[in-house]
Amino acid sequence: MKAFTYERPASIADAARLAAERPNAKFIAGGTNLLDLMKLQVETPATLIDVNRLPLDRVEDTSEGGLRVGALVRNADLAAHPRVRKDYAVLAKALLAGASGQLRNRATTAGNLLQRTRCYYFYDTSMPCNKREPGSGCSAIGGFNRIMAVLGTSEACIATNPSDMNVALRALDATVETVDARGGSRTIPIADFHRLPGDTPQVETDLKPGEMITAVTLPKPVPGTHIYRKVRDRASYAFATVSVAAVIGADKGGRVEAARLAFGGLAHKPWRVAEAEAALVRTGSADAAADAVLAGARGYGSNDFKIPLTRRTLRAVMAQATRA
Ligand SMILES: Cc1cc2nc3c(=O)[nH]c(=O)nc-3n(C[C@H](O)[C@H](O)[C@H](O)COP(=O)(O)OP(=O)(O)OC[C@H]3O[C@@H](n4cnc5c(N)ncnc54)[C@H](O)[C@@H]3O)c2cc1C
Ligand code: SF4
Repeated sequence: MKAFTYERPASIADAARLAAERPNAKFIAGGTNLLDLMKLQVETPATLIDVNRLPLDRVEDTSEGGLRVGALVRNADLAAHPRVRKDYAVLAKALLAGASGQLRNRATTAGNLLQRTRCYYFYDTSMPCNKREPGSGCSAIGGFNRIMAVLGTSEACIATNPSDMNVALRALDATVETVDARGGSRTIPIADFHRLPGDTPQVETDLKPGEMITAVTLPKPVPGTHIYRKVRDRASYAFATVSVAAVIGADKGGRVEAARLAFGGLAHKPWRVAEAEAALVRTGSADAAADAVLAGARGYGSNDFKIPLTRRTLRAVMAQATRA
């Protein structure tokens, strides 16, 4: 690990100011991803800004009937929160499908949003990787790419976003709140928060340098059956090969009246296609929805299996939703 300066600001404004003043500074929350990357020298921040003591650990009702989740709320606490379990069950289920109990006790909402890809070559500094070292090439294209993306890829990068939480947040239309050093604040819809790789896979989100996440807001609850189905190589403690976050409204006969579907493990960002949801409501057919989701999907060899697996996973989700 490279030497770094450690700061523990007393206020949100001080944290944002430090991030703007110090070159190559990074916030640290639970540290469950950043510290691993620092040990491997994939990330080499000159300054670590520890946000753990800032007052960002509350979950509060909003006046619109939604929920505001502080950036430092731990994944375990969020999954156990009574309103999350009752009104946003897809989020509770996605959180509980992620990592391990120990990690969830430590990992935070903002850190989970910003966790980096698990692409093997990104973690191996002896291999070319455009995300770690722009312009060096992509070892996954033409290499071993079983866990990589099949949608929204580019010639520069085929990595996926590994988070379970982000997939549920996409299905729920969450928004991300931030502050910057000038005292400004803004709200970013989750749909626009994560980016596709394009020519700049090192730029993963819409955040500006130094911008700090303060909260994630969930709009008022969506009625329906909340499902998070994660397909992975082991029953626990493994990242998603394919995952689906679904909120399905169906009548007593099982006819689909409303649908929200977001997919993980397939792209550089949680994947949601309005046409797939419309096709599901129009036809009631998981295959019709899968056709819309997978339009333009491309396998790279060892990850070709993800395309039929997505279709089968969606069929299983719909079977569960319509018999619930
Ligand atoms: C073995 C293992 C298995 C795992 N399995 C899964 C899994 O199955 N599913 C899953 O979803 N995740 C999994 N994870 C990932 C885990 O969920 C993430 O490591 C965790 O959510 C990151 O949160 P953190 O608070 O520890 O972030 P940190 O490591 O502290 O930070 C991560 C990033 O967020 C930035 N950051 C933190 N807070 C802020 C803020 N307030 N504003 C701006 N930037 C900020 C940091 O600068 C850093 O870039 C696994 C991790 C491990 C180690
Ligand atoms: S897929 Fe992306 S992260 Fe993986 S080696 Fe290629 S450029 Fe790097």
